[in-house]
Amino acid sequence: MKCPRCEFDQISTIAKSPQAGVWEVYQCDQCFYSWRSTEDPKVADVFKLTKEQIDNLQVIPPVPPLEV
Ligand SMILES: [Zn+2]
Repeated sequence: MKCPRCEFDQISTIAKSPQAGVWEVYQCDQCFYSWRSTEDPKVADVFKLTKEQIDNLQVIPPVPPLEV
């Protein structure tokens, strides 16, 4: 199985249906995209990510300390 967004091939199962075997939720170990086994996930080309893009993603600016 490969990630539909970044093509990475290490996917974790992060949730399973309460009734066994109905569905599972998978998550990409690289970009954290997630989808349910009952979906057929399609990611438009414009939203796809490469390893290089992921490595260079900007960090969310930290919240400055509270003023006293
Ligand atoms: Zn991915």
